Amino acid sequence: MTHVPPAPRPDRIPVTQSTGPALRLLSLGAGVQSTTVLLLACEGAIPRFDHALFADTGWEPQAVYDNLARLRTHAADAGIPVSTVSQGSIRDDALNPEHRFASMPLHVRNPDGTKGLARRQCTNEYKIRPLKKAARALLGYPYPQRVPTGIYAEQAIGISTDEFARAKDADVRYLRNAFPLIDLGWTRDDCKRYLTEKGFGQTVKSACIGCPFHGNAGWRWLRDNDRDGWDNAVDFDHAIRHGHPHANNRAQPLHGQYYLHRSCVPLAEADLDPPGPRRALAVVNDYEPEGCSPWSCRSGESINTSLAA
Ligand code: SF4
Repeated sequence: MTHVPPAPRPDRIPVTQSTGPALRLLSLGAGVQSTTVLLLACEGAIPRFDHALFADTGWEPQAVYDNLARLRTHAADAGIPVSTVSQGSIRDDALNPEHRFASMPLHVRNPDGTKGLARRQCTNEYKIRPLKKAARALLGYPYPQRVPTGIYAEQAIGISTDEFARAKDADVRYLRNAFPLIDLGWTRDDCKRYLTEKGFGQTVKSACIGCPFHGNAGWRWLRDNDRDGWDNAVDFDHAIRHGHPHANNRAQPLHGQYYLHRSCVPLAEADLDPPGPRRALAVVNDYEPEGCSPWSCRSGESINTSLAA
């Protein structure tokens, strides 16, 4: 389901005209913050975008795809095309013994009983790379052509003031990141209020169904609101227990056992109850980490790489 955005006309943007951004793009996750940014642009409260790009891992909750479909229609009315870019299905690839796989940050129970976290390569593979590829194509300089100095796209990212530390510069010359919500001084709660006002109050957090970064609150949401998604995550958790089949297929078995839930127990058996006065551990497990904005992490980052061949 890859829709490569059409190249702009003229086919490439002349260097001599580069006095500002050649294009304004939005990195659209279709979660709370980026949905807010798109709606603000649609109503002219911030400069409009030439394109909004959604990087599809093929494994988002149905509620995110529903929101995306609605946003596509809404943005089209404002003249902003919403395009999907994709590197394939992260879930299918993870379980395919024939497919090279970019590691997910699975929780690991090491053979000596200690816990770790597998390397995170999936964000780069399934989100950052397709977005960069699309940005180059839209600028008129698809890989491997060199993008001339001075030609760049401004890329808006939905990071609110409560996530200020996540705002990072792009790591390539042809993209310059912008943070409209920080410029406006908006928090995530401000975004939620605005979305409710605009009839998009049902917008949920965007992340892969089986993202190991989910805290208990995220898992509970899936279990209680998206039964198919929950069953899908439980099945995946079971299937990934001994690591990625591709590594096993290449006689490079991974050490330890792998889990989606940070407690390193099968997801179906994990304690997902909310914290209470006597449930200190539940507070830890309820915590929702920063998640997976493609532009707020560095590829390959890990806390404890435990994938040993
Ligand atoms: S949401 Fe989670 S599993 Fe999906 S790409 Fe991001 S880090 Fe990987």
